[in-house]
Amino acid sequence: MDQQEEKKRALKGTLGSFIAANRLFGKGEERYFSPERGGTFRCPICGRKLGLFVKSDGYSDPWGINSFGHCPHFGHGGEYSSDIFGMYAAVYGISEKDAFSRLMKEEELTAPGTRRRQMQIAERERQEYGAAANGFIRKNMEKLDSLGYGKRMLPEGKALLEKRGIHIDSMSQRLRGLVSYMPETEFLSKSGSAYKAEGIVFRLGQDGSSFQIRKTHGGSYVSKDGSDFRFISMGPADCFNAECIADASGAPIFITEGPFDALSVIEAGGRNAVAVIGAGNHSRLIEAMRKRERPAVAFICFDPDEAGKNGAAKLYKELMAIDGITPLPFPLGGSCHDFNDLIMADRNSAEERIALASGIASSISAGYLSKRGAFRLIKALRTADAEGKGAERCSEMLSWLRGEWRKRKKHA
Ligand SMILES: [Zn+2]
Repeated sequence: MDQQEEKKRALKGTLGSFIAANRLFGKGEERYFSPERGGTFRCPICGRKLGLFVKSDGYSDPWGINSFGHCPHFGHGGEYSSDIFGMYAAVYGISEKDAFSRLMKEEELTAPGTRRRQMQIAERERQEYGAAANGFIRKNMEKLDSLGYGKRMLPEGKALLEKRGIHIDSMSQRLRGLVSYMPETEFLSKSGSAYKAEGIVFRLGQDGSSFQIRKTHGGSYVSKDGSDFRFISMGPADCFNAECIADASGAPIFITEGPFDALSVIEAGGRNAVAVIGAGNHSRLIEAMRKRERPAVAFICFDPDEAGKNGAAKLYKELMAIDGITPLPFPLGGSCHDFNDLIMADRNSAEERIALASGIASSISAGYLSKRGAFRLIKALRTADAEGKGAERCSEMLSWLRGEWRKRKKHA
């Protein structure tokens, strides 16, 4: 067997660990599932019950998931292959071809999101704190990993998210896997002393290898007290939902400051929203945008404060330097401090703004609108916002844009 074929077979053997690492389970099913023997789990797209029964515990066995039930995505006649490549593609919303090339490029053969992640954590701790580190990063990360994500989200967490206008049940399975609620939990500091925290937990990075926690207390969000006391970060400040950057649908990419705003954009109908952690921290985002294969319009949706404005100006320049990326400022409008404020204040208007931005992006891609034309529209909307007429103006622009599309269609 050549090396390529051997690696492919070995990767197929990681399907069980991948399913377990991504917690694709219905209620109580996780207990009966093992990466070595298999069990039942849920389709990452439609949530229907599927089975994986391992024929042999040897890595050379190409494990399949055909053996139990099927859905439109997996099993007989399914959209994706019933193996690690198909499952990875479905979980991360990328093509199977991309999943294949990404997994085959991995140097270490491990299930994405499991052993590789443990090694990364151990390595980071060694790098940051030397050989004498007391394992506090690993212990803290294990606690965060073991929280219930997605369907296992606690009702307290759901209620807290709903307070911010975010509905976890209407999110995709992949997004739900990135959000959790942590009841009061004890963490270790590097000096070995303990501290307690509770809050909404966001997994960051491609394999969820770091976290941002928005602190809450007794069913409320902890408010700002001068410093950035509202957040706890664990691990590198990687992007939230960076996977959406690879989306090939032609929809624009909204870039926000922080996961709440990204989820708010998605609530308002945006397909792709990625968050940087802090307005000035773009290196991971730029890295991911450079890897994108198709052209895209990227709306920068930062807060209109000093840090947000400076960060947005810098990001605009960085995105301009990437071939195929057209950056545009997102007109937040009125007195809103961030996109979450907008969905809380006026959901309908938030949806219209996202629809307008999506219309601008498709018009640019189709060659119906120049970048200059897009800037004129955004400027006009900002002027209307300053006069308190933003919502009406946005509706007018949306109808105008739709009219243009109808005209083009007729003449085409
Ligand atoms: Zn399915």
